[in-house]
Amino acid sequence: MTELTRPIPRPGVLAIEAYVPGKSTAPGAAKIYKLSSNETPLGPPPAAIEAFKKAADELEYYPDGSSKPLREAIANRFGLDPARIVCGSGSDEILSLITNAYMGPGDEGLYSEHGFLVYKLAILAAGGTPVVAPEKNLTTDVDALLSRVTPKTKIVYLANPNNPTGTYIPFEDVKRLHASLPKNVLLVLDAAYAEYVRRNDYAAGIELVSEFENVVMTRTFSKIYGLALLRLGWCYAPAGVADALNRIRGPFNVNGPAMAAGIAAMADDSHIAKAITHNDRWLPWLMTEIEKLGLKVTPSVGNFLLIHFPKTGKTAKQADAFLATHGLILRSVAAYGLPDALRVTVGNEDANRHLIAALTDFMGA
Ligand SMILES: *Cc1c(COP(=O)(O)O)cnc(C)c1O
Repeated sequence: MTELTRPIPRPGVLAIEAYVPGKSTAPGAAKIYKLSSNETPLGPPPAAIEAFKKAADELEYYPDGSSKPLREAIANRFGLDPARIVCGSGSDEILSLITNAYMGPGDEGLYSEHGFLVYKLAILAAGGTPVVAPEKNLTTDVDALLSRVTPKTKIVYLANPNNPTGTYIPFEDVKRLHASLPKNVLLVLDAAYAEYVRRNDYAAGIELVSEFENVVMTRTFSKIYGLALLRLGWCYAPAGVADALNRIRGPFNVNGPAMAAGIAAMADDSHIAKAITHNDRWLPWLMTEIEKLGLKVTPSVGNFLLIHFPKTGKTAKQADAFLATHGLILRSVAAYGLPDALRVTVGNEDANRHLIAALTDFMGA
């Protein structure tokens, strides 16, 4: 046997293309408008900043290992059983934990065509096989997902609303998807943008998690709560799933300052209401203004929009470069199979107006 000269990762690891986050710089531009990662233009509730600063006085102590104070705050806020909440360093960590607990080599993880990229990464990292179901009108197609379920399927991931498309499926459709899945298949409902959705037929999924043993709902503090820097997420899970995740997570996987900020953020309903009001005003405004320029925009229920550019002439790539020279950082979504589109986050009024002005220049040039 030939001796290896260095450690070699498990099969498959080096085939994974690492996640590329939205850009955060635009060299040369006087002022930067970062609209590439769906962060809130309102920032976090002021009490969250205070709580974070206060936590700096006790940096030598380990945090509560099971995130108990945060789980209790979440449980109170949403009327849930704290024992069935698991917190993590962003919902990205929760998605990895779920995948590592329920999937291994030979197993399949299923998601939709333009679904959130973290699912694919988590599946590959666990040694599983990603299976993709086509969408209709950039929207999850329940029947297409169901037709791809095999005896090897272990997890179905559904971002609802989805990022980067901004589309959603009504709760009736989520329930139909769940009802047709085998009982051993875990349905992961990623509700990162739930707070922004203003539709009567939408639900994040708490009702399903409460009733069934194979549904998990993940949530995040990175979006409407404005705490992306702190990496804080959580899931509501059946007791069996929570137990599995607690066995494999790091013993202190959520840091204390993040926990303190999260608890404080959740107590400020008025800040969240303000963020929703802001989005309700500017999301439709942006959509209307962009469409006036002759560009197609996918109707979104989140805090971001997908703008479609022509394949030739005024391309998405050219728009991306042009907007960057004006300090406007958008998100290329080529890695999501959408090379002709750019995703833009709803910004503050200044950013939104600046975007439309620059886009008008670009289309007219
Ligand atoms: C932003 C986002 C998340 C949140 O990730 P965190 O790790 O909690 O910051 C999860 N799912 C989707 C679809 C997202 O867009």
